[in-house]
Amino acid sequence: MEIELLEKDDEKMRLLIRGTDVPFINALRRIVIAQVPCMAIDEVVMIENSSVLQDEIIALRLGLIPLKTDLDSYNLPEECSCKSEFGCNLCRVSFTLDAEAKEETRTVYSEELISENPDITPISNRIPIVKLAKEQKLKLEAYARLGRGKNHAKWQPVSMCTYKYFPKIEIHKQCDACGKCVEICPRRVLTNVGREIEIRDLMSCTLCQDCMDICPKNPPAIEVSWKGDTFIFEIESTGVLPPKRIMKEAVKILDEQLKEFISQVKVKKSEKA
Ligand code: SF4
Ligand code: SF4
Ligand SMILES: [Zn+2]
Repeated sequence: MEIELLEKDDEKMRLLIRGTDVPFINALRRIVIAQVPCMAIDEVVMIENSSVLQDEIIALRLGLIPLKTDLDSYNLPEECSCKSEFGCNLCRVSFTLDAEAKEETRTVYSEELISENPDITPISNRIPIVKLAKEQKLKLEAYARLGRGKNHAKWQPVSMCTYKYFPKIEIHKQCDACGKCVEICPRRVLTNVGREIEIRDLMSCTLCQDCMDICPKNPPAIEVSWKGDTFIFEIESTGVLPPKRIMKEAVKILDEQLKEFISQVKVKKSEKA
């Protein structure tokens, strides 16, 4: 397998992966979405809530605030040595929020959640939690822990994780450069250069084949296909972890699961013997 980094910033990463197949690439995608752990608020102790939103709705909204995650310092609660349902400082982070609208209506934002660990905070200060009218109050304690997306979407570290086949576009001799395929392409993949059609941005092709359908030639003078062993893999983090770390964790989890699978097969074999 060959991996080429096409694009990377603090939130997104795009890879070109050659020499693999759909089962492998899809397993990686599913692990990224459902099994790479991240932090989210999981318990809320409501001390005072005179806002118009019920306690449960506020708790749900708090759970959906992405929190910067430190996978090296915290354990998943089920793997923590404390074995306590209340957690300890290795598997739980507490937050407090104490907000009041004194003179006029105001919005309570995520910046008002005070964390006991300055490294575990909301990824943005401007996520609205609730609006308070004059003299309304919201006071609570909240507890965050690591979890996995397969149990609740709030523990999903990515807002998007997709793959697509690497496109292949061929323009045949019978093309008369009428330009219809250029006009219809939703991703502006093609361009007219004099009396010729050229590929401007192959990676953006979605394989929709609209260009083939619109071509007046029979058979179409443009042919769109894909390479069965080459994929463009893209992830966009919610901000809880850098995309590179999410990929590393996904590969680690896949590796552990395969090792577990092999060891189970060996056990079954020795039982039979
Ligand atoms: S629509 Fe067909 S004939 Fe017209 S420019 Fe495109 S490929 Fe060529
Ligand atoms: S398959 Fe769709 S996206 Fe790709 S070049 Fe044709 S029209 Fe554009
Ligand atoms: Zn613990």
